[in-house]
Amino acid sequence: MREEHAVPSGVDNLASGHSNKYSMKVQLRYNYRIYPSPRQQQALARAFGCARVVFNDALADRQAALKAGLPYPTDAELSARLTAAKATQERAWLGEVSAVVLQQALADLNAAYRNFFASLKGDRNGRKAGPPRFRSRKDRRQAIRFTRNARFAVTPGGKLRLPRIGDVPVRWSRRLPAVPSSVTVIRDAAGRYFASFVVQASEDLVPEADAETGIDLGLTHFAVLSDGRKIASPKFLRRAEGKLRKAQKALSRKAKGSRNRDKARARVARVHAKVADCRRDWLHKESTRIIRESQAVYVEDLCVAGLARTRLGKAVHDAGWSAFTAMLEYKARKGGREFRRTGRFEPTSQVCSACGVRDGPKPLSVRVWTCAACGTVHDRDVNAARNVLALGRRESLNARGGQVRPAAVLAPAGEAGSRRGAA
Ligand SMILES: [Zn+2]
Repeated sequence: MREEHAVPSGVDNLASGHSNKYSMKVQLRYNYRIYPSPRQQQALARAFGCARVVFNDALADRQAALKAGLPYPTDAELSARLTAAKATQERAWLGEVSAVVLQQALADLNAAYRNFFASLKGDRNGRKAGPPRFRSRKDRRQAIRFTRNARFAVTPGGKLRLPRIGDVPVRWSRRLPAVPSSVTVIRDAAGRYFASFVVQASEDLVPEADAETGIDLGLTHFAVLSDGRKIASPKFLRRAEGKLRKAQKALSRKAKGSRNRDKARARVARVHAKVADCRRDWLHKESTRIIRESQAVYVEDLCVAGLARTRLGKAVHDAGWSAFTAMLEYKARKGGREFRRTGRFEPTSQVCSACGVRDGPKPLSVRVWTCAACGTVHDRDVNAARNVLALGRRESLNARGGQVRPAAVLAPAGEAGSRRGAA
C-alpha cells in the first residue's frame, strides 16, 4: 500500500537495520509534525531543490556512463563531482545548504540502485523496485535528510535545530526514546511538514506471553483472530473514507486546468492525509495489542499487490492490510516475538480446523458451516484463522528443523487456486 499523500508512516519508512541469523537490529522511525516559519519554509524549499539537483545530476552521470559503455562512476567519484560542481558558477548555490543534505541525496541514489539490483536478483521482499527515477519539484513528497554529522539537535526549548534552516517548532506527540541517528524532514502533498527520526530500538519492550495467534485477513471483517475475536474497521474511519470518496468525486467533476480543480485537489490531499492518519493510529493500536498478547503471530501471506488488481482492489487498499502486517512484523521483532507469513495458496477456509477434513469450496455467502466428518460448527472466518495458526506452527517447526511429518491437515500448496475466489 503506497499512499503518496500520506504522512510518512512509521511503517512504510521503517528502516530495517542489518539483520542476519544471529542478530537482529531494528531501527524505528519516530515521526512528528513540525511547524517551520515562512522563512524556514523558504530555506527548506531551497534545500529540497538542491538535494533534488544533486540526486538528478548523479543519476544523469551514471546513466550517461552506462550509455557510453564507460565504467560506473563510484560513490567517491560522484562525491568529487559534487564538490567540483559547487565551484562552478551554475551550481554555486549548492553551497547555500548543508553539505550533509547533499551527501545524503547521493546516498539516496545509492540506496535506490541497491534496491533495484536486489529486486532484479530477487533478493528483496515486497514490491519490485524499478530503476531510480529523476526527482521532480512536482513530486508529492519532498524530503531531505540530516545525519549526526550535520549536527542537527533538539534544543533545550524542544525545537529541532537544523543547520542552515534554523530552530523549528515540533509537536512532540510522543517521547523520543533515544538519541536519533538521523532526521528526515518531509513536506507532504498537503503542505505539511514532518520530522522523521531514526532511533535504534531497544530489545524486549514487551512482556512475555503464552498465546499464539493465527490471523485471517477477511472480507467481512478487517481481521479475524484464531481465538474467535473479530476486528472490524471502526466507524470513524469508515466515515472519513466516505468523505474522501466524496472529495475525489468532486475533483473528477472539475474542469481540467481550472482554479476550482486545484482547490478540489488540495482538498483531496487534505482529506486523504486525515484518513491515513486515522487509519495508522488505529492499526498501531490493534497491532500493539495483538503482539502484547501473543508469543507467536501467524498471518496469511496475501499478495496484496496482486489482489489489488481484482475487483476487490479498493477494499484491499482501504483495509490497509499490508501496513497492518508490516506493523505486526516489526513489533514482533522488537518484542522478541515470532512472526510468520504462512503459505498463501492454502485453502484455509475449506478445511475443518478441528478434524482436518477438507470440506470443499463454499460460496462467499456461506458464513457458518458444519463439518460433515466431525460435526463441528464453524464460523467461516474463525476457522480460517485457526487453520492459519496450525499452518504457522507447522512451518515454524519445520524452519527450526523439528521432526514434523508433512501434516495431513491442509491440502498442499497450489491446489484449488486462490482461496478468495470460490473458496
Ligand atoms: Zn471436522
